[in-house]
Amino acid sequence: SKDLGRNTFHYYNSSMNSDALERMQLLEDLRTALKDDELYVEYQPIVLLETGKIIGAEALVRWQHPKRGLIRPDIFIPLAEKSGLIVDIGAWVLERACRDISGLQSKYFPEFRVAVNVSTIQLKRDDFKKRVKKILADVPISPNSLELEITESELLSDSPEFDESVEQLKLMGISLAIDDFGTGYSNLGYVQKIKVAKLKIDRSFVHGIEGNSDNQAIVRAVHNIADGLIMNTVAEGVENAEELLFLKELGITHGQGYLWSRPVSIKSLIRLLQDAA
Ligand code: C2E
Ligand code: CA
Ligand code: CA
Ligand code: CA
Repeated sequence: SKDLGRNTFHYYNSSMNSDALERMQLLEDLRTALKDDELYVEYQPIVLLETGKIIGAEALVRWQHPKRGLIRPDIFIPLAEKSGLIVDIGAWVLERACRDISGLQSKYFPEFRVAVNVSTIQLKRDDFKKRVKKILADVPISPNSLELEITESELLSDSPEFDESVEQLKLMGISLAIDDFGTGYSNLGYVQKIKVAKLKIDRSFVHGIEGNSDNQAIVRAVHNIADGLIMNTVAEGVENAEELLFLKELGITHGQGYLWSRPVSIKSLIRLLQDAA
């Protein structure tokens, strides 16, 4: 497709990646990336499996480094989290995504939903809800069309600020999802505690599921948990028809992956939606 070219990532080689000095340099560059306009957001469609219809999209941040080319979020988000820069970067992504999708809603698809990643580091800040309120006051978008995907980068110890943020967001009508469910620190106690609307099944469990009975058992279990707690399930990283068929049979409600589209610009997203309508 015509979008493949611009989505090709330029990878760092691993020796550079392991070099602490290089990481420090990258962090220095990241400090000015926002104000130098080097960050942008792409959107990956989220599909309702039952009908195959695109109902929303996930916002994914990208960094166009002036010298090094495109840098993957897997590399710079952890740096942003460790340094605290994620607070400003995350707020910027949220506002950008709300503006883009608000335009899309008002011109073309009023029901369209947008999912934005937020780090637990953002949620632990007591000014998070204020920043979200400000964005929702400035941008004409309904909180009901907004979903925040909570990504856990560290074990969540008791944090009253986090609990307070979660409560406030729910009161505002924003829905919450747990990202990469089944990996890292996301666990059942956490699901029970924050009572989200959606679990996102990590793509490591989705890849090749039709031929992997362990992954089938895991995805089935996640689906049962979600079903019992009246939550939706999104399968990430769906790449082919075999995987799709299997997920549908297991009762997974939503999917996202290269089978439908790679992450694309807001313009390409609108074109894609118009072509599908
Ligand atoms: P994620 O939230 O789990 O996002 C899904 C990742 O899977 C994206 O990688 C997406 O491009 C990739 N992907 C989607 N479909 C497929 C597929 O069919 N096959 C394969 N192999 N991969 C697929 P991306 O864009 O590189 O983002 C990586 C991670 O960076 C995200 O993982 C998320 O944890 C983090 N991230 C991205 N944007 C933000 C942000 O604005 N804030 C925060 N806190 N984290 C972000
Ligand atoms: Ca996500
Ligand atoms: Ca994931
Ligand atoms: Ca992830």
